[in-house]
Amino acid sequence: MADKKKDIRALSKEQLREFFVKEGDKAFRGNQVYEWLWGKGAHTFEDMTNISKETRQMLQDNFVINHISVDTMQRSSDGTVKNAVKLHDGLIVESVLIPTETRTTACVSSQVGCSLDCKFCATSRLKRMRNLNPDEIYDQVVAIDKESKLYFNRPLSNIVFMGMGEPLMNYNNVMKAIDKITSPEGLGMSPKRIVVSTSGVPKMIKKMADDAVKFNLAVSLHSAIDEVRTEIMPFNATFPLEDLKEALEYWYEKTQRKITYEYVVWDGINDRREDINALVKFCKYVPCKINIIEYNPIDDGQFQQASSSAIDNYIQALESNNIVVNVRRSRGKDIDAACGQLANKS
Ligand code: SAH
Repeated sequence: MADKKKDIRALSKEQLREFFVKEGDKAFRGNQVYEWLWGKGAHTFEDMTNISKETRQMLQDNFVINHISVDTMQRSSDGTVKNAVKLHDGLIVESVLIPTETRTTACVSSQVGCSLDCKFCATSRLKRMRNLNPDEIYDQVVAIDKESKLYFNRPLSNIVFMGMGEPLMNYNNVMKAIDKITSPEGLGMSPKRIVVSTSGVPKMIKKMADDAVKFNLAVSLHSAIDEVRTEIMPFNATFPLEDLKEALEYWYEKTQRKITYEYVVWDGINDRREDINALVKFCKYVPCKINIIEYNPIDDGQFQQASSSAIDNYIQALESNNIVVNVRRSRGKDIDAACGQLANKS
């Protein structure tokens, strides 16, 4: 019989306190259990050793703890680690640990599959199966933090929401997860070390600005010309660049924080002079920087990384307009862990 008990981690601290009061116990018991669930990462009620046996049994009768488990873990020759993470209902998402000299970055998923349909991304072929819960997002981060300590002797330093899914299409749960990641009762990480990456959902970008979030924003731009962008990112027909621009201006006005545009240059798609000019123009709307990312092929031949001279043209044009541009090398390609390759292949 399927377990219909509620996931205890769906309760806020206040709700847990109220639960205990209703059960005739002290509200404080709620704090203790909350600390076990979030601070100490307890996987079972049995683990909660300072809680009486009777209370643990009572919790057991009422709730489950839906923990993720790392199903398989692959290590790349460049040190990148990819986790296939099993959820309580058997679905799988992937998260990636990316080490550099000075940082360990966790790249986490926000949905099983994805709501969007970017033609160059392997995840889009999975379709969206469901949103991840806040605790399922949080657990991915905790798992990578542990691996970082184990393999690199240091805690996780940065988090990017660039795994599977569109974080702004699962806004509430992503926000709750970030609250937990940044709260002292969770991982106590600074929001400045977190980047939420979106394909560009204007309404939600404005909502984030209104909610005065403290993390950084990245937008997967890939083209500043509507016809081209709609071709490769069909949802652009619904959320055209003019709306995106307006939302980004609103974001900057409210947060005063620079935006990062992610950009892949493809042969015969966005490598013309007019593509470059359009990007330069787009970059003048709000303070920003550009990350040119290497294309990670996902089987068919429709998309091919542009030549290095095409990329040089972009760099030159951007730099001569005083726009900061970084070229990002791909990591973890040999284990399908690089951008756009997450598709539960294993
Ligand atoms: N949905 C969010 C986050 C996931 S994608 C977003 O779109 O931003 C993370 C980044 O990988 C995005 O910038 C995306 O455009 C990029 N990407 C997708 N497929 C890729 C591929 N095959 N090669 C390189 N980058 C890719």
